[in-house]
Amino acid sequence: MKAMLLDAPGMPLRLADVPVPEPVAGQVRVKVSACGVCRTDLHVADGDLKHPKHPIIPGHEIVGRVDKLGPGVTRFALGDRVGIPWLGHTCGACPYCRAGRENLCDAPGFTGYQIDGGYAEYAVADADYCFPLPDGPGDVEAAPLLCAGLIGFRALRMAMPCTTLGIYGFGAAAHIVAQVARHEGMRAFAFTRPGDTQAQMFARELGCVWAGGSEERPPEALDAALIFAPVGPLVPLALAAVRKGGTVVLGGIHMSDVPAMPYDLLWGERVVRSVANLTRQDAIDFLALAPRVPIVTHTTPMPLAEANEALARLRRGDLTGALVLVPEHAL
Ligand SMILES: [Zn+2]
Ligand SMILES: [Zn+2]
Repeated sequence: MKAMLLDAPGMPLRLADVPVPEPVAGQVRVKVSACGVCRTDLHVADGDLKHPKHPIIPGHEIVGRVDKLGPGVTRFALGDRVGIPWLGHTCGACPYCRAGRENLCDAPGFTGYQIDGGYAEYAVADADYCFPLPDGPGDVEAAPLLCAGLIGFRALRMAMPCTTLGIYGFGAAAHIVAQVARHEGMRAFAFTRPGDTQAQMFARELGCVWAGGSEERPPEALDAALIFAPVGPLVPLALAAVRKGGTVVLGGIHMSDVPAMPYDLLWGERVVRSVANLTRQDAIDFLALAPRVPIVTHTTPMPLAEANEALARLRRGDLTGALVLVPEHAL
């Protein structure tokens, strides 16, 4: 099959012919029809994350159809449409897993980082970590739900209860969260790179009541803020915009250093917290909610072989919504 391989950090991905993977016990094989491009893929490619497998096939927003069952799999049938997310495996035995916090597992496996992912024509995955996808969105449109949507949803939950919500960085996650926030009756305020009027217009189209540059103060104090841009200096800016008792949730897996800041910004029981990975329950809850909103993702499909160009576009911020790679057989 055709796959895009990362041989080492800092290298461009390499288009390669590799054997179609065979599912072992407990796994399904999926014929990939779409795979979203997530900012985490950039962090994998750049070597910002410290425990990768190399070479690795990136991609953890995978949509496809089950095309082969490994021994013992009863959860899915051939032809089922499934999604494969970032959380590819947990140990089930560590204190976090036993406490229902498998997103913090001590011995996890992540798709497209330690387990080969979806920048390929086929992928195998542990069936217990795959999800049936709701009817409605097409394969390309469903792909961003599997990380941008899921992590955004988990971040939003951490911000609740909340009426006025700030969203810093208006990319794939934010454009989904804005729709959920409106559905939940929140008033969302979007913060973009200063001068990015296109992203600000996009945010207003999606129901945000205000959009401006990240250095601006919103017209009302915020109950909470979510930061999706990997930019540490946004933390004090967001803290300055949230009211007493408010929460700033950091939704990215990697961020530049958070600068020193006056304690006054944190005073008043303001909280700064990160969100790490997802639990399978997050996925079940979010995928049930998505058709009720209903979430409409804005996607730009690109051929699988153009994965390097897709990553470059994401780095430049040269898109609205989400980029999705499509293998030749699904074009
Ligand atoms: Zn564990
Ligand atoms: Zn992701």
